[in-house]
Amino acid sequence: MLTIPDFQILKTNLASCTANDVKRALAVKRPTMTDLCALLSPASNAFLPQLAALSKKLTLQRFGKTTQLYGPIYLSNYCTNRCAYCGFSANNRIRRRCLTLDEAEIEADILHKRGFKHILLVSGEAKNAVDVEYLETLARRLRRRFASLSIEIQPLSSREYRRLFAAGIASVAVYQETYDPPLYDRVHLAGKKCDFNYRLHTPTRAAEAGMREIGIGALLGLGDWRAEGMALGYHLAWLRKKFWKTAFTVSFPRLRPAAGEFEPFEIVSERDLSHLIFALRIFDPDVGLLLSTREEARFRDGMLGLGPTRYSAGSCTAPGGYSNPEQEGEQFSVGDHRSLAEVCATIRAHGLDPVYKDWDPVFQEAEG
Ligand code: SF4
Repeated sequence: MLTIPDFQILKTNLASCTANDVKRALAVKRPTMTDLCALLSPASNAFLPQLAALSKKLTLQRFGKTTQLYGPIYLSNYCTNRCAYCGFSANNRIRRRCLTLDEAEIEADILHKRGFKHILLVSGEAKNAVDVEYLETLARRLRRRFASLSIEIQPLSSREYRRLFAAGIASVAVYQETYDPPLYDRVHLAGKKCDFNYRLHTPTRAAEAGMREIGIGALLGLGDWRAEGMALGYHLAWLRKKFWKTAFTVSFPRLRPAAGEFEPFEIVSERDLSHLIFALRIFDPDVGLLLSTREEARFRDGMLGLGPTRYSAGSCTAPGGYSNPEQEGEQFSVGDHRSLAEVCATIRAHGLDPVYKDWDPVFQEAEG
């Protein structure tokens, strides 16, 4: 059974780590949860250059000189939940829109022409707007044009994930936002998302359905980032042990300005974010680590090759935003406004190869 310790216990453990614990964690071949605790502890602040160097070495060893790329398509900003921190929250007065299947295909065509082979289909959590049937139909229309289709939508049942896998969707991203139950209750004010445990077990249901890749993550700016990092480590290690055939990724979305003007409870600096990324890379050298356009170009460029393995580019977070750049109703404002071509040029300038494709629907057909 997946068990994540209470945040007070995690914080106490983090505070009790010493410099010697950090040195040991940097030296071991297979870091344990105790080592991750040392790598995330306040005592490890003084070792950030060593963490960065080891993270860079492991990333190069496991992923080579590459950075994968993906583009998000926002299908709908309708949402039945009230999350205090999100621009799509049901109580925010924004212009709501759900793309028709034809409109979604036009958005996908625009990304295809720009060079994307991996797209992430995103929507608010409102099954009256985007349901399994909608996604099934859209996936069947798009699957020949793209190497990989992912979704970031409302949590589904295993049976529903199975239907989507059969239609061509091979990966699911679902972020817990915070692994601290009292804090989770404080920011999830209404709607199905209030059920902490149902969300926590969503990656399990998706993996049971045979999804090739599952993305987990915590929204940074709600709880203590070191404790959230520990909780991510527990969740990741448990999933890896249970679903050893499945690939996993971790995202680190930091709160961005959005409708509703929510003020983060915790300040997570770029230094903190890089520290968290390095620690998780050392803890699990094979996990994919995502850095989205929430972050600014300067920071993303500085992190190339140091830990993250996948970047989004040229993103718009409003439904229909690629066809109409003036489109209102975005989920949050992005920090890196460069095009795919510009991001790829920077990746190459850092001695890395941009990778548009790491999967092919043919494999899925062979597995199905
Ligand atoms: S975070 Fe997700 S569930 Fe919550 S309001 Fe935003 S879109 Fe809806």
